[in-house]
Amino acid sequence: MLHTADAVVVGAGVIGSSVALELTRGGRTVVVVDKAGDVGHGSTSASSAIIRFNYSTFEGVALAWEALHGWRSWPEHLGHRDPAGLATYHRTGLVLLTRDDAGHGRAGALFDRVGVPWQAWGPAELHRRLPDVDTGSFGPPKPVDSEEFFAPASGEVHGVHTPDAGYVDDPSLAAHNLATAAREAGARLLLRHRVVSVRLLPGSVWRIGTAEGDTVEAPVVVNAAGPWSGRVDEMAGVGADFAVTTRPLRQEVHRVPAPARTAAGVVLADLDLGTYVRPGGGDSLLVGGTEPECDPLEWVEDPDAVDPNPTVGRFAAQVTRAARRLPRLRVPHRPSGVAAAYDVSDDWTPIYDRTDRPGFYVAIGTSGNQFKNAPVVGQVMERLVSAVEDGHDHDATPVRFVAPHTGHTLSLGAFSRLRRVADDAPSSVMG
Ligand SMILES: Cc1cc2nc3c(=O)[nH]c(=O)nc-3n(C[C@H](O)[C@H](O)[C@H](O)COP(=O)(O)OP(=O)(O)OC[C@H]3O[C@@H](n4cnc5c(N)ncnc54)[C@H](O)[C@@H]3O)c2cc1C
Repeated sequence: MLHTADAVVVGAGVIGSSVALELTRGGRTVVVVDKAGDVGHGSTSASSAIIRFNYSTFEGVALAWEALHGWRSWPEHLGHRDPAGLATYHRTGLVLLTRDDAGHGRAGALFDRVGVPWQAWGPAELHRRLPDVDTGSFGPPKPVDSEEFFAPASGEVHGVHTPDAGYVDDPSLAAHNLATAAREAGARLLLRHRVVSVRLLPGSVWRIGTAEGDTVEAPVVVNAAGPWSGRVDEMAGVGADFAVTTRPLRQEVHRVPAPARTAAGVVLADLDLGTYVRPGGGDSLLVGGTEPECDPLEWVEDPDAVDPNPTVGRFAAQVTRAARRLPRLRVPHRPSGVAAAYDVSDDWTPIYDRTDRPGFYVAIGTSGNQFKNAPVVGQVMERLVSAVEDGHDHDATPVRFVAPHTGHTLSLGAFSRLRRVADDAPSSVMG
């Protein structure tokens, strides 16, 4: 069957669903194609869905702070009630722990510029606020099977508290909410359809072929295929001019019983030990990693071949680190949790951009840190697509995006495929 539309979105994760909603709101007819049986089954399904504002650039902080307003007023953002229920934002606050407070000035300056409330908590304040947290500094992170890992603390950690941070309780449901709103607004969803060919026809129309035999034709395509996005780019023949590349990385998040009385009602992002902990709902905690240099990264060739089960080694590494920070945490014998891939860019910053082929756009390289930005990424892509399709030369003069809630003006050049990766660019999920 042939479907025609103004735009095709490849991928119905949280990013593709948001893009579809905003393109539809912008007046385009939209078809979303996804190979999975439902929305939000890719990286999104395994996301820890932590909403935080600690990024290394103004645009990074401003985007996350803008997106918070979408999560806080989720029903209004959607403009439609999903019969499946609504994902919920939990404001818990987040404490970023580092060995010293050397980076706090720069982070604080960005927070102040964007308007993110924050406080520096020295070791004494940390101890007073979070009595169950061991404030020793054990970093830099070490392998948990090394003797050094168990060496006594060599100082104390410092914290940066952002009280408005938190998490969304069900990331797949959040994607579902966005896709349902998009559908209500007129978008069509083609689930269980795997894109196998992407060709530009004469007249600047893209033809998207699926393994199931359906075809979609549209002048605009947005690649939001998460860890599979490199393949979609290859099919479309784009990528040659990218200064920033992406590749999929396997990552695990573990679920453990919360200690009876725990400080971890907040989210802890512990760069000193290379781990993070967030409330997991009920009496559980979710424990993940911040890609400490001592742990090998698990790059994957084929995202379809990623083992979705947690492994004993990763579980022990991440949960043992968390237990060093939360001494009352017990490390269970059996691993429990999820694993998935996310697509990482060279500077752990997404690529929200056009490409060198007319009408082909990418919302990729989300680097394990863009769930939180989903509500605003759709708006960013709509602004970009509209400007470029109207003839704006985004590569020469980056499109500006005025954030509707905060009023900040962001240069979308920060997310360009052509950006130079700075020498001091982020090298972890923190972005
Ligand atoms: C373990 C883990 C923890 C994370 N924790 C956080 C966090 O705490 N906070 C945060 O902000 N972010 C976090 N992230 C990152 C965040 O979840 C991702 O950035 C986000 O979910 C990416 O969404 P997406 O829609 O781009 O990709 P995906 O959710 O992967 O969606 C891509 C979709 O494309 C479809 N697709 C791919 N190829 C094709 C094809 N050929 N044909 C048809 N369909 C196709 C797939 O089926 C999939 O549904 C985490 C990610 C992981 C994996």
